[in-house]
Amino acid sequence: MAKLYFRYGAMNSGKSTALLQAAYNYEERGQHVVLAKPAIDTKEADHISSRLGVTRPVDFLIAPGENMRAVFAEHRARVIRRGAEALVPEADPSHVDVACLMIDEAQFLTPEQVDDLLRIVVLDGVPVLAYGIRTDFRTEAFPGSRRLLELAHSLEELKTICRCGRKAIFNARLVGGRFVFDGDQVAIDELSTDRVTYESMCAECYLRESGGRIDGR
Ligand SMILES: [Zn+2]
Repeated sequence: MAKLYFRYGAMNSGKSTALLQAAYNYEERGQHVVLAKPAIDTKEADHISSRLGVTRPVDFLIAPGENMRAVFAEHRARVIRRGAEALVPEADPSHVDVACLMIDEAQFLTPEQVDDLLRIVVLDGVPVLAYGIRTDFRTEAFPGSRRLLELAHSLEELKTICRCGRKAIFNARLVGGRFVFDGDQVAIDELSTDRVTYESMCAECYLRESGGRIDGR
């Protein structure tokens, strides 16, 4: 039975690397995967890039408000059609299908699009692996991540280390090298005069830097 998997972590926990490795594992067995990501992520636009240097294009970008299930169905049909064309006539084309739909930056999906992921899994029978960041720099869940935490059959935490050596669970934002604890959930680099960066942190280090403030309070 197909399942909806959510693999989440702080920033720099190797989510894109894990996704590309999982895609490779499928393809090594001769299976087909479809890769997608929300269009809101302007960095590297239509590619998935790991910090280890591996990069590959996505099959499609997901615009806000777009019907996730309908768009995926088009790409699934394309995979099946291409598979049928590539096979010798006497072979059975019915076994060529999408083995897995993989989503990078899944925190930027809308809750409705995550609902569609569950429909793709349960009603269309295709497993979905979604990778994303659990919370924003104010420690609030991203809308897509919150819905994935509610709906996923399987949750897996990808771990990364804080500067102190503990497990990092938060993402502190720095603007021009200084920590900030207020602002928009998504900071688009191009629109900001100061460069926005993030540091993955444990709760202890986060609260030390914020002076005890959580989510602006
Ligand atoms: Zn720490």
